[in-house]
Amino acid sequence: MSAKGLLEKQRTYFRSGATKPVAFRIHQLETLKKILTEHEGELISAVYKDFKKPELEAYATEIGILHDEISYAIKKLRKWVKPNRVRGTLINFPSSNFTVAEPYGAVLIIAPWNYPIQLALLPMVGAIAAGNTVVIKPSELSPNTSAVLKNIADAWYKEEFVAVIEGGVEVNQDLLAQDFDYIFFTGSTRVGKIVMEAASKHLTPVTLELGGKSPCIVDGTAKIKTAGKRIAWGKFINAGQTCVAPDYLLVHSSVKDELLKELKKSISEFYGVNPKLSPDYARIINQDHFQRLRSYLEDVKVYYGGRYKEEECYLEPTIVTDIEKDAAVMEEEIFGPILPVIVFDSIADAMHIVNSKPKPLALYLFTENSTTERLVLKECSFGGGAVNDVVSYLGNRHLPFGGVGNSGMGVYHGKSSFDTFSHTKSIMRKPTWLDIPFRYAPYKGKLKWIKRILK
Ligand code: NAD
Repeated sequence: MSAKGLLEKQRTYFRSGATKPVAFRIHQLETLKKILTEHEGELISAVYKDFKKPELEAYATEIGILHDEISYAIKKLRKWVKPNRVRGTLINFPSSNFTVAEPYGAVLIIAPWNYPIQLALLPMVGAIAAGNTVVIKPSELSPNTSAVLKNIADAWYKEEFVAVIEGGVEVNQDLLAQDFDYIFFTGSTRVGKIVMEAASKHLTPVTLELGGKSPCIVDGTAKIKTAGKRIAWGKFINAGQTCVAPDYLLVHSSVKDELLKELKKSISEFYGVNPKLSPDYARIINQDHFQRLRSYLEDVKVYYGGRYKEEECYLEPTIVTDIEKDAAVMEEEIFGPILPVIVFDSIADAMHIVNSKPKPLALYLFTENSTTERLVLKECSFGGGAVNDVVSYLGNRHLPFGGVGNSGMGVYHGKSSFDTFSHTKSIMRKPTWLDIPFRYAPYKGKLKWIKRILK
């Protein structure tokens, strides 16, 4: 079926009102939980086939996080859909006022390849909780997972409610040419701009969950052992192909050697002396990305790692130092297992480096100094982040997740997902027993009263 035909079918279904009852939405969320349980093995082996993603990582970062999100939505949905009373104002006295969440309609979700299950289905949880229909376009770069998602959708859903459309750029462009009621895009900043441009033709609202260079600052007071372990975990999980992975490290000169030693130690504790043999270390998604990453190593000094096997898209956890200002590794988002380490002498210098780049998706700060913490959180703009940890903040559904500026717009997770996929409709209910005549002409003598109220 054409993209246009599919959208028409979904819109007709949406207009029938079938997706709106809360009981329907809860039933669909329960079905999604059932799907995840029944297809867990198939999904985990698909992401393994795509880039050797270890089972534990696949469960924790793809399936488990979805279960958690769905359970929460099921528990809270009846509360979220209730009208929300707000105060009235004097000028509109007497009135009662409330907002109510209404679904947008037919939603398009475009997903990337790096967390190919989670990033396709987590937005879908919010979309169906809010009462929308859904078209998902998974990434062509994770074809095994995309195929499983497609089979699941075909087997479990009527396409007028949930459909998965596989394909590459052309398929996506065709979808983007349609007038969906909402577009939720996760991917690169480059494609995010294409999505927003296409959406503007129909004035379709968008959420853009993009990437960027997320800095990790370690100051002289930080607990270095813990920092080394947590940074190594967050950087090399999924072989560094995580949107919120620490992209580069800014370390105070007084703790640089110690931190490098701890990072090295953690890497070999996690993956052994030869990570290629570790069942816990993923591969780079394809040759293009592998070659891009390998080229970064040409103009830097490899402090640790750097070994690779081209045919297997394997690049070991790598730490690089002595970075020139214009080195390619500091220009683009790395999105792979290479960690550049840059030394600073004052926190102002570190913040200057961060603030001279586009606003990142995440920022991490390791410090025991509360003044430094306050300063960095106040002076640097970024989507979200953590103090004395990396990555894990996105697992807290009470923290809205999203970027700012070049790293995106809009947030989701938990209640924010429901809000994102709902239009907030504002209603004022006026009684008819009183009709204060201020607003009606003739205006003579009324201005002074209006001025007294609206000041
Ligand atoms: P991408 O932008 O290349 O692709 C994302 C989607 O867009 C895919 O479905 C793809 O088919 C489609 N697409 C690609 N080129 C297109 C074009 N010219 N026109 C229309 N559609 C097109 O991103 P990717 O490589 O799959 O993912 C990596 C990027 O995503 C990184 O920048 C990463 O930081 C970011 N990311 C962000 C988040 C987040 O939550 N903020 C999560 C994961 C990944």
